[in-house]
Order: sequence, then C-alpha cells, then structure tokens
Amino acid sequence: METALLLFDLGRSKPTTRQVADVVKLGGADALTDAMKRADAARYQEVVCRSALNPVKGMPFSWTLNPYRGCTHGCHYCYARRYHKQFELGADDEFASVILVKTNFVDVLRKELAKPSWAGELAAIGTATDCYQPIEGTYKITRGVLEALCEFSNPASVVTKGPMIVRDKDVLADLSARAGCHVVVSVPCVDEEVWRSLEPGTAHPMQRLRAVRELVDAGIDAGVLMSPIVPGISSKRSLIGRTIKAAADHGARVVGCNVMHLEGGTRDHFMRWLEQEHPNLVDGYRQLYRGRYASGAYRDEIKKVVNGTRARVLAGP
Ligand code: SF4
Repeated sequence: METALLLFDLGRSKPTTRQVADVVKLGGADALTDAMKRADAARYQEVVCRSALNPVKGMPFSWTLNPYRGCTHGCHYCYARRYHKQFELGADDEFASVILVKTNFVDVLRKELAKPSWAGELAAIGTATDCYQPIEGTYKITRGVLEALCEFSNPASVVTKGPMIVRDKDVLADLSARAGCHVVVSVPCVDEEVWRSLEPGTAHPMQRLRAVRELVDAGIDAGVLMSPIVPGISSKRSLIGRTIKAAADHGARVVGCNVMHLEGGTRDHFMRWLEQEHPNLVDGYRQLYRGRYASGAYRDEIKKVVNGTRARVLAGP
C-alpha cells in the first residue's frame, strides 16, 4: 500500500496507465487516492498517455482513438469490459465506475498527425469505450480530437451511444466537408424494458435516435448500428422490426447490426448477469456460445431477418 502511494507521489504530474495498473495491483481500486469522485458515483483517474493513435488488426479500420478507458454506460454485453483487466481493474462494477481519463490525449494526437510518416488514414473514434460518455461534458477531449482531425484534414468515423454528440455537430460538419466523417449511433433495441436491463447507464434509445435526426439535418452522414443484438433478449423479429423502423423514421442513412460476442471478462460478467436476470436462457447460451461468437447458423438467421426487415421498411407501406 505504501509503495502504491509513493508511485503517485510525483509532484503535480499525472501517472501513466501502467503506473495506474501497478497501483491497483498492489492496493485495489481504492488505492487510486487522487481519482476524482463525482455525483454519478464513478471515480475518474486522470492519466497521461504516450500515444493516441492505436493500430488495430482485423477491423474495417486500421487506427483507433479512445480518450477514455472504462465506461459509465455500463452495458452488460460490452466487449470492452475485458480490456479493463489490463489495468488490474475488474470487468464487473469497476469497468463502469473507475474511468481513466487521458488528459494529454489531444496534444499527443496533434504531434502524431504532424509526423511526416503519418499517411492520413481514417481514424475510428470511440471503438473501445464511449467517447461521449457523460464525463466528456467536463473534459471535452473528444471535441478536441475532432478539432485536431479537422486541422489536419484527416478522415474519421465515430461510434457512440451518447446523444451529447450533437454538441459537436459544428466540428463534425466541418470535418465531413474537409476530409470525410461517418457517424454511427449505437441503438441495439428501442424497447424500454430491454434498454433498461441491458444498458443501465445510457440515454434512452429515442433520445439517441433524435440525435441521429439532428446530425443528419446538419448534413452529417449518420446511421444506426444495432450493436449488439443479444440472443433471446433483443433478437425477436418484432423488436428488430421496431428498431429498424424507428431508425428509418429518424433519417438514419444506414442501419446495420451485429450479434453479441462473448469472451474473457465480458463473458464472465455477462453470464453472471444472465444467471441472475434470465436463468431460463443460460443453457441455451452455453449451446449457442461454444466459442466467442454465436453459432454461424444463428448469425446468418439474424442477418436474414435484419436484411428482410430493412428492405420491407425502406420499401414503405
Ligand atoms: S456504451 Fe459502448 S463502451 Fe460504453 S459500456 Fe456500452 S457498449 Fe461499452
């Protein structure tokens, strides 16, 4: 414990994420003595990062930007839960209640964008944790990221569940005109009961759809991703139909979907939650998720339902 405190006894400088991991390993999340507590009961630990642009493989994009780690939206299916373990933090409650804030993120990004070796590839924002979770209202790091990308005319995409994105429609429109920018608002399901149970900290789905409408009206290429569809909970045809119809009614340029995948800490957390909330589904899940993905046949079936529904909705009455 004494060693943990010493690690933070560095004058006014902020720790790196590695130092945070060391502190937590020794003393648990309670050892983050300089983490700010806020009204939402989460603790916010400011950290400094060495790099902003993060290379990824096997995704439709090659670079990601994530100014925050952890997410107070706390969706039970969130695949980023497992990444919290990298900081010795838990994938359960600590994922949604201990948030790392990279305060030098925009400065670091500017330096990276200015390097002659940077090829100006698309940067995907908010892929690991939500870049418009409530604390963004205080730090405005995501807005700073968009402004930096604008300055360097660098194309970007944004994915979020946070309607706060409309705050930045001016800079999103500017970036769209200069370099191209595509926004995806994640709305897995418009049903109120499903929303409350799966995504306890997020804004109401209709509020997210109103954000889509506002972005589209501002000339921004914005769509909806039903991400993820959760088997047995949000996978009924009627729910998929209602969600696609609502997205189309709010002007979404595209409507896509994916089926939940489960691995590592995310799988452990989700299965514990399922046992509590939907014990009748547990056996079915063990059959369906023998690996990290739902069976191929199941995913094909969902894709068919979504494609068919989308075609019907777009064709009109
Ligand atoms: S909003 Fe996104 S990042 Fe945040 S908990 Fe939900 S799925 Fe995870």
